[in-house]
Amino acid sequence: AAKEAGRNRAVRYHPGLREAHVAHTVLADRLRAAVEAGTGFAMHYQPVVDVHTNRITAVEALLRFTAPDGTSVSPAVFVPVAEETGLIGRLGAWVLEQACTDAKAWHDEHGISVTVNVSGRQLRNPQFADEVLAVLKRTGLPGAALVLEITETVLVTASIEQTAEVSRRLARLRAFGIRIAIDDFGTGYSSLAYLRTLPIDVLKIDRAFVSRIEERQDKALFRAVVELARSMYLQPVAEGVETTGQAGVLRELDCGLAQGFLFARPLPAPSLAALLSERAAALAA
Ligand code: C2E
Ligand code: MG
Ligand code: MG
Ligand code: MG
Repeated sequence: AAKEAGRNRAVRYHPGLREAHVAHTVLADRLRAAVEAGTGFAMHYQPVVDVHTNRITAVEALLRFTAPDGTSVSPAVFVPVAEETGLIGRLGAWVLEQACTDAKAWHDEHGISVTVNVSGRQLRNPQFADEVLAVLKRTGLPGAALVLEITETVLVTASIEQTAEVSRRLARLRAFGIRIAIDDFGTGYSSLAYLRTLPIDVLKIDRAFVSRIEERQDKALFRAVVELARSMYLQPVAEGVETTGQAGVLRELDCGLAQGFLFARPLPAPSLAALLSERAAALAA
């Protein structure tokens, strides 16, 4: 009877839990099969632009996954599963190789950088720095053209020892010109003062901050973040810019770099290459 009651309680308190568990397992299996087969994954690239000149200075590499049934799954959903299952190691290595290979040509022709998202689990791998340096060597991309993006939660939720170790790893990569960006700043609990103890170069301010930037108080907050970032020699980048009004405020506050649907959506490599050539031709004309 107690067992019966327990089961009922579980059902009552966690409706949908079993379904969620099954969906999670199905996704994990699909990801594993796709990583094994080397199919289903693709990189898209979203321009980072200078808000004063509209020039593309960099592109962010964003991973895409299409399941065998043709449905595309958001990285916000499948990246956490890839992390939990340990698949992110191989997947992340593929992302880095692909992004640096694509970016090599764009860097040579247009001088742009590529920014690659790196998960906490990748950073905690003692081989990580060696792997990154090996990719640069293979692809010929200079370290100065690569930015690694890490979320603040990765650093805040780690132990002091882990953080120290990750810091050393990042410092080693920086010695090769690679820049480190804090992604989604403002969504976690870290202060800039804390972040400044880490070897970082770029501060990507989360879309949640940017979306209300036209309101007076939010604008003041954003201005303070940009000024503080600057005083710490961090390059601020606004994420998720969707309106001309937001871009106007960014110009006014002199937050020089931005990313968002207003400027361009993430694009497959051939479309991004076409966009870069089109822009270069327009500038030359
Ligand atoms: P993120 O690194 O913060 O990437 C920015 C996300 O914002 C992307 O979503 C992008 O498509 C979206 N975005 C860009 N501009 C706008 C805008 O104007 N409005 C709105 N509403 N959204 C905009 P996406 O591609 O779905 O990626 C979601 C997250 O998944 C990324 O957030 C990143 O944390 C993770 N992710 C993506 N690719 C990779 C990867 O290769 N490795 C790892 N570890 N994580 C990845
Ligand atoms: Mg990112
Ligand atoms: Mg972000
Ligand atoms: Mg994000």
